[in-house]
Amino acid sequence: DERVKEIRRELDMHVSGADVAKPCISFAHFGFDEALLNVIIKHGYSEPTGIQKQAVPVAMSGRDIIGIAKTGSGKTAAFIWPMLIHIMDQEELQKGEGPIGLILAPTRELASQIYTEAKKFAKSYGLRVAAVYGGASKMDQFKELRPGGIEILVGTPGRLIDMVKMKATNFRRVSFLVLDEADRMFDLGFALLFSATFPKKVEILAREVTTEPVRISIGNVGQ
Ligand code: ADP
Ligand code: MG
Repeated sequence: DERVKEIRRELDMHVSGADVAKPCISFAHFGFDEALLNVIIKHGYSEPTGIQKQAVPVAMSGRDIIGIAKTGSGKTAAFIWPMLIHIMDQEELQKGEGPIGLILAPTRELASQIYTEAKKFAKSYGLRVAAVYGGASKMDQFKELRPGGIEILVGTPGRLIDMVKMKATNFRRVSFLVLDEADRMFDLGFALLFSATFPKKVEILAREVTTEPVRISIGNVGQ
């Protein structure tokens, strides 16, 4: 309706896809529980960022997303929050050891930043997060994954493959997949894609591996 169009116009947001959830202008409208809302407030966030306003309700509705917004616009939380809710919705959380939420990142710096961001919000639910990337001990990462398992795993592709080969983990439980900075990692497969820029070849691949994705972009990045 008109109000939705107005909100998107004000945010310089472009949305495509059928039956897209409406943007939410405040945290209170996301449908998050008290525990998550409290940590968000505790971190001093007063309002969702532009990409969060639209990507969170779409992700909460279970849709695949191709999200494009500039660096520093809060894309990490935009996928971490719905991922946490999704994991908490799983009935058989106890069973299995591999992650339910999997995030692929192109570099270890990025993987480690995502890990930090995920941890601060996962804590309120007691969910376990691990990060694996090159340049650190495989044995230490192996040990971190083995006992009791984890719910969220962040990693660079090469080291993730190593961990699976070593049987430190497996992806059988994964039902929420994120490819962060997909433009820097276009040779892989996924469901929720976030990027600051989005070249044509990434867009083509993203269309192939997602199902009726909702494309959300802020400003004219990647156009
Ligand atoms: P991006 O992935 O889009 O480059 P990040 O997810 O790394 O951006 O977020 C940039 C910074 O903004 C981080 O320090 C993060 O904690 C912070 N942030 C995220 N969401 C909000 C918000 N709603 N309000 C204030 N700060 C936020
Ligand atoms: Mg990011």
